[in-house]
Amino acid sequence: MKATYDFVVIGAGVFGAWTAHCLRRRGASVALLDAYGPASSRASSGGETRVIRMGYGPDELYTRWSARSLPLWKEFAQRANVQLFHQTGVLWLSHDTDAYTRQLLDVLIRSNIRCEKLSADEVRRRYPQLSFADVTWAVLEPESGVLLARQAVQAVVKDAISSGVDFSLASILSPSGTGRLDSIRSSSGESFSAGTFIFACGPWLPKLFPVLLADRLRPTRQEVFFLGPPPGSDAFRPPRMPVWLHSIHPLRPYALPDLENRGFKIAFDRHGPDFDPDSGSRVVPPQSVAELRDYLHDHIPSLHDAPVIETRVCQYENTYNGDFLIDRHPGLENVWLVGGGSGHGFKHGPALGEYLTGLLLDHAAAEPRFSLASKHTTPKRAIF
Ligand SMILES: Cc1cc2nc3c(=O)[nH]c(=O)nc-3n(C[C@H](O)[C@H](O)[C@H](O)COP(=O)(O)OP(=O)(O)OC[C@H]3O[C@@H](n4cnc5c(N)ncnc54)[C@H](O)[C@@H]3O)c2cc1C
Repeated sequence: MKATYDFVVIGAGVFGAWTAHCLRRRGASVALLDAYGPASSRASSGGETRVIRMGYGPDELYTRWSARSLPLWKEFAQRANVQLFHQTGVLWLSHDTDAYTRQLLDVLIRSNIRCEKLSADEVRRRYPQLSFADVTWAVLEPESGVLLARQAVQAVVKDAISSGVDFSLASILSPSGTGRLDSIRSSSGESFSAGTFIFACGPWLPKLFPVLLADRLRPTRQEVFFLGPPPGSDAFRPPRMPVWLHSIHPLRPYALPDLENRGFKIAFDRHGPDFDPDSGSRVVPPQSVAELRDYLHDHIPSLHDAPVIETRVCQYENTYNGDFLIDRHPGLENVWLVGGGSGHGFKHGPALGEYLTGLLLDHAAAEPRFSLASKHTTPKRAIF
């Protein structure tokens, strides 16, 4: 450990890992700290898989960030010589009054992102395992897919360490005072000094900065299921099964194909109850499985009775509308707050690392949507 660093990044989830990586590649001295280790099972980035899709309804900003991030993920994976991305395709299921998917298609076309418009008949023909009576058309993003989340973050951290980032397992205490912060302390009494401190602590940010963030960042409990397809069947693996999003359904279901023989992954993208990332229970109750089986009965009949071979409970860290938080602390001039992934942040790790590095090293212009001032306290989800 050095006496002092240019940057100390607290939090080795996807946002902190890519930030440390990008700063180090620009020559800065960087320490990266995490209380539980990179992409631990408690972290939002700790899941096996995360979707990377380009479509964001009418929202061009996140489409641009996804389109920037995908080649950076691929380049990184190639350099690290690991498979971190599966090009499964991403299918948006829609109906005639769904403005979100119509606008998404317009943005993809305008942005020159490859996509196909499919009729309901074509969806039925290509994916006979699925049954969507409410779907009248769909959009397929053939070049999008799935990132192996935990492995990807751990690979980024490993690469950062080999390029000179110092990593420590340390639980950092809330900083206090105003003006300039010289050092931070861990729960075991270690001190870390730097010119700038970046708190990329995901769902822990409201605990570290309660006065500022307790009302502005809300961690919610999210359940994920892995189902066991029938033996010998490839119906739920690529290329027969893409990622699909059935967002026109009230439960907002989405599913990922069976990758690495882990099972067919399915979850509901509605916000769950408030959740504590340190101590919240990660056991899924039987009512949740029963609700899932109802959905399967109607939409994936061949998996209606499939065994649940794994469950996970993770947390979203929601801002009021889903926009990220990337801003300077209003009372501590050399402290930055980075988070608010809001259930869609993973894919954007590379673009976020680049963006924040631009702000810190090149005084690039800040995006107003990421400011603390723009974060209201009453939930009004707008980014899906
Ligand atoms: C079920 C689920 C499905 C999702 N699906 C998708 C998807 O398909 N596509 C997508 O793009 N996104 C998805 N997301 C969202 C995405 O996973 C998150 O937005 C992203 O992982 C957030 O990363 P982060 O680095 O901000 O936070 P985290 O990954 O939680 O990292 C924060 C880190 O800070 C550390 N930390 C906290 N406090 C301290 C402290 N005091 N001292 C030291 N270290 C500390 C923690 O240990 C942790 O490692 C999903 C999220 C969930 C939960």
